[in-house]
Amino acid sequence: MVIAEHAGAILTVDLDAIVSNYRLLRDRAGDAGCAAVIKADAYGLGAGPVATALAGGGCRDFFVALLAEAVELRSILAAAAADARIYVLNGLVRGEEHTYAEHGLIPVLNSTDEIAAWRAFAGAAGTSQKAAIQIDTGMSRLGLEHADIEALGAADDAFAGIDIRLVMSHLACAYDRDNPLNHQQRVLFDAARELLPDAPASLANSSGIFLGADFHYDLVRPGASLFGIAPLMEIPNPMAQVIKLQGKILQVRDVDRGRTVGYGATHRATRQSRLATVGVGYADGYLRYLSNRGSGFIGNVRVPVVGRVSMDLITLDVTEIAESDARPGALVDLICNHHTIDQLAAEAGTIGYEILTGLGARYHRRYVGAPD
Ligand SMILES: *Cc1c(COP(=O)(O)O)cnc(C)c1O
Repeated sequence: MVIAEHAGAILTVDLDAIVSNYRLLRDRAGDAGCAAVIKADAYGLGAGPVATALAGGGCRDFFVALLAEAVELRSILAAAAADARIYVLNGLVRGEEHTYAEHGLIPVLNSTDEIAAWRAFAGAAGTSQKAAIQIDTGMSRLGLEHADIEALGAADDAFAGIDIRLVMSHLACAYDRDNPLNHQQRVLFDAARELLPDAPASLANSSGIFLGADFHYDLVRPGASLFGIAPLMEIPNPMAQVIKLQGKILQVRDVDRGRTVGYGATHRATRQSRLATVGVGYADGYLRYLSNRGSGFIGNVRVPVVGRVSMDLITLDVTEIAESDARPGALVDLICNHHTIDQLAAEAGTIGYEILTGLGARYHRRYVGAPD
């Protein structure tokens, strides 16, 4: 744990905002259940506090990517939600079948081979084993192909010993409401479900929830929007902002017109300027692409990044800021309510998901809100 006095920046995570986003998404999903996808350490925000807060908010279905994440999550939830269902998206790790059983984890079976392995394990154990079955409907990434499903459907013992808790697929373009692939994937999903044993179904990620009731099925699986990322391009963001990132000013200097700034001398002052050096860099996930593009805020005034982002430092033009507000030790808002994750991501030419999951280990992390 990096203490605040030593850190170059302070990351505040609002757990109440995560719970309120969870409730908003659950309400939008109508009669469907609402899971939480908290892979990659809850998108970089900390699986422990985030999962505990979500469990407190009523969530009982969790998805992670890796078996190791699931084992850790099971121990995190032991007190708050021992009955939680934990699904492992990346599939069954062969040779680790007993680990799923020991911790009560549910593998998402992505191939005929994984189904066969889980069936064999169930047979040897002599008890039925829970699983989700994933169908590929357009991502071409994980899941059964249509031909696999036809073959499985034709064999009557294909799922012997497997207790299918969920049949799922994943949308490729859900953030783009008008993309025809959304509807096509739903049609393929329904066709595949016809050939499989009857089971609850799940298709929608965060964005998919906003595509309408046709996409909700029995369980929705939001991740990003729990953490404040806008679900759709076309509508104002209904989610509460969850994080605040504040960089600490280390030094302030006046520079004459014509002076250059940073590696490569990519910025040249066009006027007498004041620059603030802040203790955040690309080693903290403040992407180098933000060089001469990113910005922070002091109060309501935008302060642009000038020069290249270096490993541990950025320089901001604070000429417009009162000297008393831009002094060593003062904080600059790098991510805040009026400069959101999505806005920083746009400056960096990427998506909020990458900004979140890249948030550095050197920040002082402060959790506010939740457990009551
Ligand atoms: C990551 C992931 C999700 C969550 O997606 P968001 O866009 O973050 O809401 C849902 N389902 C699967 C299969 C995923 O990999």
